[in-house]
Order: sequence, then structure tokens, then C-alpha cells
Amino acid sequence: MAPRPAVALATRNSGKVREILEICADWPVRWVTYRDASWPEVEESGKSYLENAELKATAVADALGIPAIADDSGIEVDALGGAPGPRSARFAGPAQKEAENLRFLLERLRDVPEESRTARYRCVAVYSRPGGQTHYAEATCEGRLLFEPRGSGGFGYDPAFVPLGHDRTMAELRPEDKNAISHRGKALRALRDMLGADFPMFASDPHEETYESR
Ligand code: IMP
Repeated sequence: MAPRPAVALATRNSGKVREILEICADWPVRWVTYRDASWPEVEESGKSYLENAELKATAVADALGIPAIADDSGIEVDALGGAPGPRSARFAGPAQKEAENLRFLLERLRDVPEESRTARYRCVAVYSRPGGQTHYAEATCEGRLLFEPRGSGGFGYDPAFVPLGHDRTMAELRPEDKNAISHRGKALRALRDMLGADFPMFASDPHEETYESR
């Protein structure tokens, strides 16, 4: 059987890696993650999700010489005028942990009443080939924020985020149920549809055939 072409997952966020591998389990590729290969730190200097996702995907595709997938995502809180958005990973400060960002957000929303606690997750997923050709898809997941976190699944803001039409938080849903409705699940499935029949075309790229895990 011909080897599956290698595709890199351009993120060091273990929550994202877990979810992307689950969502894309049926993609006809061999995934290369940060556990298999190393690449230079990518500064997320863009102003938009798309710019940041493209920076990450193209940097890793060029560093490894194989195609790469990146996701840039965040939470947009209506009571904060759409913040933190693309800055969600650094909301409480540059080196803060996810739990700290969640605490900081709930503190900022302490006096915001239930009916005004609407928010959405947004994800832009980018597929980049070495040399710069990119495709992307974007998706959202609407919901609302609780006053206190609940649940231990997911990652990031999930313990406080209840998706529209549900009464459990993202952190209380089973992983497959989160992935079925999440911004990341929808964006990656849309990206896969977009790559469509062309998707195996990159298998003819010699780098992708010969790439060895380090
Ligand atoms: P970045 O895309 O690496 O800039 O980081 C995205 C940040 O948005 C994460 O660190 C989380 O804080 C937040 N985020 C994105 N997607 C999710 C999700 O599915 N659940 C919870 N938080 C998320």
C-alpha cells in the first residue's frame, strides 16, 4: 500500500491537537504533530484569525517541507464588544495559562446579567502547501457564558461556555458531541470539503512521500 502523505498539525496546543486528530480521523493522511517534529516558534503577529492561521500554517509547511494545517480561534464576547477574539490565548497576559484566562474573563463579566452573556467561538482553519499556496475555511459556534465554570472536558473557555440549544457546557459534553457542533469541527469539515477531489494531489510532492518522523 502506498504510504499516506504526511501533513503537519501546526500547533503546540495539546487540546487543539487532540480535537483536530479526532475531527480529522478519516483524512487520508499521516499526521505529524509537535511530538514528532520540531519547528521554530511562530509569532502570532497578525491582526485577524486568518492572518495568524496563515502565519502558522505557512511557517510550519515551509520549515518541514510538507503541507500543514493550522487553526486560529478564539471567543468573542458580545458584552466586551467582541473581545478577546484573536487574543483569546493571551487575554489575561502574554504568558498566562488557560485557567487564568478563563478566570479573568469571568471576573470581567461578573456584573453582566444572564441575558447579555452571549458569545461565540470562531475558528479559521488553514491548509498550506510548502511555498505558500493556502486554502481556508471559517466557522462559528454560538452560545452563552455561565457565571461559574462546570466540567472538565475540552480546554480553554469550555467550562463556562454553553452552546446554543444545549444546557451543558462544552466541558461537560462528550468529545464527539463537542466536535459535532464546535467551530473547529465545522471549519475543518468545510476545509476538507473544499480540498475535495484535489486533496490527494499533494501525494505526488516528493517531500511528502519521503518525510521521516523525527
Ligand atoms: P490560538 O488560536 O492559538 O491563538 O488560541 C486560541 C485560544 O482561544 C485558546 O487558547 C483558547 O483560549 C480559545 N479557544 C479556541 N478554541 C477553543 C475551544 O474549542 N474551547 C475553548 N477555548 C477555545
